[in-house]
Amino acid sequence: MRLRCPHCQHLGSIRTTKVMTPTVSQHYIQCGNFECGHTWRATTEADMTISPSATPAPSVHLPLASHMRRDVLAQQIRSGNTAEHTPLMTPPETRDLFAPAGVDGPS
Ligand SMILES: [Zn+2]
Repeated sequence: MRLRCPHCQHLGSIRTTKVMTPTVSQHYIQCGNFECGHTWRATTEADMTISPSATPAPSVHLPLASHMRRDVLAQQIRSGNTAEHTPLMTPPETRDLFAPAGVDGPS
């Protein structure tokens, strides 16, 4: 991710990030314009889900975007077939997207 320098509007590079919470991070950024050279801190916050995670963290509660067809999504998750998959990057926290934390869906 790159952010625009508030002074010269060139793109800056994030040099380091401090994770404050699962949804909030502080970034330390250097402007890419050598004639500017501004270094600054910016805070980013995840504030909405546009597409749901396949491995949702039970502790993260973001509002869902209004375009999501919750009824259809819930129906597809509840009645769809399952294809076996072994996660490569992140083990799932729950097997059922809409199940309460710690409760697995049908196997
Ligand atoms: Zn700049």
